[in-house]
Amino acid sequence: MTSHAIRHVRVTPIAFRDPPLLNAAGIHEPWALRSIIEIETDSGLVGINESYGDLPMLEAMAKAAPALTGLSPWALNDMDTRVTALVTPRQTASEFQGTQISLAPGTHVSKTVAKVISAFEVAMMDLQGQLANAPVVDLLGGAARESVPFSAYLFYKYAEHIETPYAPDPWGETLAPEQLVAQARRMIDAYGFKSIKLKAGALPPEQEVAGLLALAKAFPGAPLRIDPNANWSVSTSLKAVEQLRGVLEYYEDPCPGLEGMAEVAKACEVPLATNMVVTDLKEFRRNAEMGCPVKIVLSDHHYWGGLRATQRLSLMCETFGLGLSMHSNSHLGISLTAMTHLAASVPHLSYACDTHYPWQDDEVVQGGRLKFEAGGLRVPTAPGLGVRIDPEALARLHDNYLRTDIRNRDDLAQMRKYDASFTGAQPRY
Ligand SMILES: [Mg+2]
Repeated sequence: MTSHAIRHVRVTPIAFRDPPLLNAAGIHEPWALRSIIEIETDSGLVGINESYGDLPMLEAMAKAAPALTGLSPWALNDMDTRVTALVTPRQTASEFQGTQISLAPGTHVSKTVAKVISAFEVAMMDLQGQLANAPVVDLLGGAARESVPFSAYLFYKYAEHIETPYAPDPWGETLAPEQLVAQARRMIDAYGFKSIKLKAGALPPEQEVAGLLALAKAFPGAPLRIDPNANWSVSTSLKAVEQLRGVLEYYEDPCPGLEGMAEVAKACEVPLATNMVVTDLKEFRRNAEMGCPVKIVLSDHHYWGGLRATQRLSLMCETFGLGLSMHSNSHLGISLTAMTHLAASVPHLSYACDTHYPWQDDEVVQGGRLKFEAGGLRVPTAPGLGVRIDPEALARLHDNYLRTDIRNRDDLAQMRKYDASFTGAQPRY
């Protein structure tokens, strides 16, 4: 009988072009990092996935990978146990302080176990799908929708990087309201998105409020969201939401901390959403104990512990009457495909998901860039994830990684190249 036991885990770090997008922490660096995971069985099947590519994550995956040898691709609980035993963080205080937590909870060391489990789980489910001749969405209970809606994710940005290693991106500068509307128009024309999200916390709040009001006028009826990434004080948050009265679908992480969010929630009718203060079950419980000031959880299977863990989160959200959507980081098509299988399998998912995908022009999957139809992605029906790695593309993106000296995302240090006085202290406004 053929053995489908896991023989080998290969993790390949990659880097791809990323535009100079502004946010609360600073600005994106010219290269975004990810990792490509390939899990091979004795029978020669290969399950794939994409995850974070920062150095601590690569080290954690390298530490955990040997534990998978000999496991069945179906043994997800066993994998959980083995990974947890091997990579439970024992971080020092200096490591703790050195971690950029504000923007991307996925980069925080406290999420290491959940991140590694997720990285391996998706690749193992890709194997399961190949063995069962079924798409991952079927392993998750089947599709509740044929297509998963995503939102137009707008950013303020510079026209080009300060030290630019390649030609400027085609989007140009976005700082003024009319440039923001043009960016939205271009993205919606190209992808058909129905909802619009503005990454804020970068420019003075009055400029960002003016930008959102311009969007509301240009796209009447489109659901709008703003995400200052906790860079506004409680009073700034309340002032801004007053100016945005009647415009917002939800208000994402305006100010720091669950207590701050609770203060804003008390005085504002718009539901608060987060990917910063409810990022694990402990924080979920705190939110519930406080009467749920946060009403919408922006999940992310990459740091919530995988596809099945996110389904459990969905049940929790239903139980507590909370909405659910999805957060994103700079990513390529394997992550996007995994998000699509997951989102399709979750009936409770109540909003269009975030994706950075339009900001990337590179791809690692065969066939190149994935195609949105009317703002959504069709759920793949081929076995497993339904996408395969293009080996030449992987080699090229890995070569990018070897040529850049970026090993951990650092938007703050990058912003200091433009403005040496930038401190990144939050909330800035
Ligand atoms: Mg966010």
